[in-house]
Amino acid sequence: MDFGWTPAQRAVHDRMRALGAEADAAAPDDRMRVLARGGALGLPIARELGGEGLDLVTTALAYEGLGATLRDGGVLLAAGAHLFGVALLLARVGTPAQQRAWLPRMATGDCMATVAATEAGAGSDVASVQARADRTAAGYRVTGEKRYVTWADRADVYFAVARDGGVAGGAPARGLTALLVPRAAAADARAAAADARAAADARAAAADTADAAGVRVGAPLATAGLRGARLAPVSFRGCEVGPDALLGRAGAGLAVFQIAMTYERALILAFRLGAMERALGEAVRFARERELGGQAIARHQAVAHRVAQMKLRLETSRLLVYRAAWELDQGQRGQAEAALAKWHAADSAVLFALDDLWLRGGAGYLEESGLPSAVDDALGGSIHSGTSDVLATVVARWLGL
Ligand SMILES: Cc1cc2nc3c(=O)[nH]c(=O)nc-3n(C[C@H](O)[C@H](O)[C@H](O)COP(=O)(O)OP(=O)(O)OC[C@H]3O[C@@H](n4cnc5c(N)ncnc54)[C@H](O)[C@@H]3O)c2cc1C
Repeated sequence: MDFGWTPAQRAVHDRMRALGAEADAAAPDDRMRVLARGGALGLPIARELGGEGLDLVTTALAYEGLGATLRDGGVLLAAGAHLFGVALLLARVGTPAQQRAWLPRMATGDCMATVAATEAGAGSDVASVQARADRTAAGYRVTGEKRYVTWADRADVYFAVARDGGVAGGAPARGLTALLVPRAAAADARAAAADARAAADARAAAADTADAAGVRVGAPLATAGLRGARLAPVSFRGCEVGPDALLGRAGAGLAVFQIAMTYERALILAFRLGAMERALGEAVRFARERELGGQAIARHQAVAHRVAQMKLRLETSRLLVYRAAWELDQGQRGQAEAALAKWHAADSAVLFALDDLWLRGGAGYLEESGLPSAVDDALGGSIHSGTSDVLATVVARWLGL
C-alpha cells in the first residue's frame, strides 16, 4: 500500500488549486466557465474523447485541490454532478456512439449535464419514480416532474430516470429506464419524427417559446446553502428523444442509476476535503492566536481536542474517499465503498463545520465569518446523492443485514 503521491499527481493537484483560486476570484456566474476552461470538467474522461484520461484517485486529488481554494461549494457540486454523475456513467455504460456524441463536449463544458432523478414521491426511493418514458416510433416520449435538480437551468442535458411505459397498445415494459434528455434538441427529434409540414410547425413553435422542446425549468430554489448549485425543478412535458437517448438496457434504469450514484458518491465530496484542510489551518491559527486571561485558548484541552477532532474527521474522510476512488479504478463495483465514503465525509463535514463555528464563539455566529454558511453547505452534502440514512442502509445490506 502506497499513500504517497507521484510528482504528476501533485502537479494536477497544484494546477487545480490554482484554478480554484481563479474561479474563486471570478463572479459567481463565471465560475463554471473558469473551471471548464482550466480542464476541470474533463479530467477523468479518456484522452481520445477530449479529456485527460486521469484515474479516479488522481481526479479526487484534483477536486480536493479545487475545494482548497474555491469556496463556492455549490458550483463544485454542480461540476461533480456533471462529471461524476453523468460523464463517468456515460464512459461506463454509454455506447461508443453515445460517448463520441457527448463526452468531448462535456469534457470542455460546452455541454453541461446533470442528474434529474428526484420527484415529489421519489427521492430516497428512486424505484418509485412516476415520470414516464413511453415508447414511440421514433424513440421515447418523456413526461414527469423532477425536483431539486442541480444546475437545472444551465444544463444542456438531463440524465433522467423514468418508468418505462412500454409500447402503446402493447404489453407495458417493466421497471425504469434511464435516458439522456437534451434540453433543446428535443424539439428537433420531435420534428424529425413528424411529416414535413408538422416539422416546420414544430420548429416554428420551438423558436417561439423556451419550453417548446418539452423541458421546462423552474426558478432556482432558495436553499439554505450551496446556492451556487442552482437547484430547481425540471418538468418534462412530452419530450421526444430518439433511441440513442437510452442509457443501458430499457428497463434497467435502476441499475444504471445505481452505477451513476456509485461514481457520484465516491467523488462528489472530494472537494470538501480541500475545504476542510483550508478551514483546519485557519482553526489552528485561531486557537493559537486568540488569547483569554493571558493565554491562548488552545491551552484549554477542550479547545485543542475540538481542533484535533476536526483533523480526525478530515483524515478519516480522506481515507474513505480515496479508497472508494481506488476501488472504482480497479474495476470493482465499489457500491459499498462509495456509500461509506459519502456517508462518512458528509456527516464529518457537518460536525467539522459546527466545531469550526463553535471554536470562534460569538464571532463564528456572525454571517461575515462565513461559518454559518459553511454549516449550511455541509448540511446539503448529507442529503444529495443519497441521504446518510440511505447510505447506511446500503452499507447494512452489503453486510447482509
Ligand atoms: C444540495 C442538494 C442537491 C441535490 N441535487 C440533486 C440533483 O442534482 N438531482 C436529483 O435528482 N436530486 C437532487 N437532490 C435531491 C436529493 O437527492 C434528495 O433530496 C434525497 O435523495 C432525499 O430525497 P427526499 O428529499 O425526497 O427525501 P425523502 O426520501 O422523503 O426522505 C425523508 C427522510 O426519510 C429518510 N429515509 C427515506 N428513505 C429511507 C430509507 N430507505 N432508509 C432510511 N431512511 C430513509 C431520509 O434519510 C430522510 O431523512 C439534491 C438535494 C440537495 C439537498
